[in-house]
Amino acid sequence: MKVLKFGGTSVGSAARMKHVASLICDGEQKIVVLSAMSGTTNSLVEISDYLYKKNTSGALEHLNSLEQKYYAVVNELYATEPYREQGRELIKSKFDYLRSFSKSVFTTFEEKVILAHGELISTALVNAYLQECGVKSCLLPALDFMRIDKNGEPDMAFITGHIHEMLQENAGYELYITQGFICRNAYGDIDNLQRGGSDYTASILGAAIEASEIQIWTDIDGMHNNDPRFVKNTKPVPSLHFEEAAELAYFGAKILHPTCILPAKLHNIPVRLLNTMEPSAPGTIICNEIEKGKIVAVAAKDNITSIKIKSGRMLLAYGFLRKVFEIFEQYRTSIDMITTSEVGVSVTIDNPHHLTDIVDNLKKFGTVTVEEDMVIICVVGDLLYENIGFQSKVVNALRDVPVRMISYGGSNYNISFLVKAEDKVKALGNLSAELFE
Ligand code: ADP
Ligand code: ASP
Ligand code: MG
Repeated sequence: MKVLKFGGTSVGSAARMKHVASLICDGEQKIVVLSAMSGTTNSLVEISDYLYKKNTSGALEHLNSLEQKYYAVVNELYATEPYREQGRELIKSKFDYLRSFSKSVFTTFEEKVILAHGELISTALVNAYLQECGVKSCLLPALDFMRIDKNGEPDMAFITGHIHEMLQENAGYELYITQGFICRNAYGDIDNLQRGGSDYTASILGAAIEASEIQIWTDIDGMHNNDPRFVKNTKPVPSLHFEEAAELAYFGAKILHPTCILPAKLHNIPVRLLNTMEPSAPGTIICNEIEKGKIVAVAAKDNITSIKIKSGRMLLAYGFLRKVFEIFEQYRTSIDMITTSEVGVSVTIDNPHHLTDIVDNLKKFGTVTVEEDMVIICVVGDLLYENIGFQSKVVNALRDVPVRMISYGGSNYNISFLVKAEDKVKALGNLSAELFE
């Protein structure tokens, strides 16, 4: 069985939902993961923000206008009055529930319940539409099988056991529709897989059912060789190795959630990126094969902070790096890039939450310099060290960009550079010109 995931723009209007229905109804049994309609999760975040700030009228105003948009979708989506009526009732009951949060205390617990509603509504609407069309479709509630553990990692044993049970209990349907993004945590509360997490739902599910393929349907024809939001004339990459795709996703290629490749890679399930707006385009296939001797793509990860620790005592001192890393571990802050020299070490982090405490502690070991608003530029491909000349080509492309750090050799798949945020677009453009044109 395949798992297909459709993102926010793919279900962003009644017309798009109908189009998705036409893509998934081919007689083949499949699991379909849906995101919230585009814009909804952002609106729900904003509504939560008003509730945190105890601005009830601000929250209600946004809720009411979002509710009206859904009535228009219901009107356009269904052809018959009973389904329209059922759709209106669904929207009313969900929004009445959302409005009830304005009367109670508001914490992250309530926020997560609110955020879950985008996916809860989109899946209910599409499932009812499929039923109106006479398709044998059933809704599998993600909150009944998708669970994360105390560390926020998917609880694969729980997920695998429960999804198999639910598929058995509901045998014989053509389509199983479920919500991306949402889950329960180790305590049973409603939680989520972080923004953009519907891709992750699809790959976790694919791994749990040993799917034959995971398809991520979005608004672009596959992974492009550079970020199309900042560089012109980018081109789709026909195939990527799991490791290459994982690096690109982690280092900013928004088309994929950062961690979504891992479950597919562990179970060797191919991931195909496809375009809902252009379904016949070949897209990108991500699997265990690598195109030899080629640099395939570039991505950029924003909001990076670099920290340099200089220490005279580092010279020949074993254990220095352990002490440094222990501080990051103590504050549960992961490090993205590392460069070292005899007198110092530079690292980057993307979560500055504990920056002050980390810097305070690092000062015990040396002089600490922090630079914020940096960007990691990641160049991905078959970068085995035997492939002579690749790194010089990449470095040469950045000859007129100030580079703060370079990391090469950590894997066979990437070279990363740390540059200032203001130099990001130039760096990406230079790399495209040098490597792909
Ligand atoms: P969805 O809502 O379907 O999950 P996203 O907006 O999360 O879609 O991801 C698709 C978007 O990712 C594209 O519209 C594109 O602007 C952006 N993107 C960033 N980098 C890349 C890349 N290297 N290749 C393709 N798309 C990319
Ligand atoms: N709806 C969620 C978001 O906007 C999850 C997703 O679309 O993948 O982040
Ligand atoms: Mg996405």
